[in-house]
Amino acid sequence: MEIYKITPLHVGTVFRKYSHMSYGSENEAITPFPLSVLYLESEHHRVMIDTGGIEPDGEHWEPYIRKPEERVDAKLKEISVDPGSIDTVILTHLHWDHASNNALFPNAVFYVQKKEYDFTASESNHRIKPFLRELLLKTEYKLVDGNQTIIDGIEAVPTPGHTPGSQSLIIRTEKGKVLFAGDLIPLLSNWEQTPKTPGGVLDNLEDARNSLELLSHYGVVQVLPSHDFALFGGYAQSDGTDQGIIP
Ligand SMILES: [Zn+2]
Repeated sequence: MEIYKITPLHVGTVFRKYSHMSYGSENEAITPFPLSVLYLESEHHRVMIDTGGIEPDGEHWEPYIRKPEERVDAKLKEISVDPGSIDTVILTHLHWDHASNNALFPNAVFYVQKKEYDFTASESNHRIKPFLRELLLKTEYKLVDGNQTIIDGIEAVPTPGHTPGSQSLIIRTEKGKVLFAGDLIPLLSNWEQTPKTPGGVLDNLEDARNSLELLSHYGVVQVLPSHDFALFGGYAQSDGTDQGIIP
């Protein structure tokens, strides 16, 4: 039975209105938010959840910064993990800041929800930039159709709202089940406030609320947010670096 140790990695920073990360917030202040991926290790598996953002080109998704040492392979090197040793990559959803570095993992099997793949591949989806669609579709994916145990100890739950085919992962750890919900829960406060509130960038609000309600029944002991410096035990500084330590 696989038990995972989870290491969150900080792989860049975007500057956005606070309300983009919290639906209904009236806080329009431009705020730094980290891009994050998770590295999971168990007895038999080395797993990435998401692969992080594109190389900053000074044009797309600005303001966005990623220092050379924040590339996902550099971050893994810091903890002595060879990207070639990753056997499994699971994508929460196919957005530029979550799925752009798949090519760094040549030996991994990639998993994404079929609905998310179809949405991305659809020529009628004009929300995705053509160069990004091309990049994302270069990966050969195993398509997950609904609830599924991806590998022992990691369960995928479809949680639409941010995108139609977003999925959450329930991860078995020593202390119990840990949840990573992608951009359904970008900030810890999304989950902790009453009622629970999704991130502010939504494909469908009703879906997002239903997804949060669904996840509240899984008995998770911890929620890891996708764009929150709390993930690294730290807080944002004005230049977007975090002063916390990776737990
Ligand atoms: Zn995101």
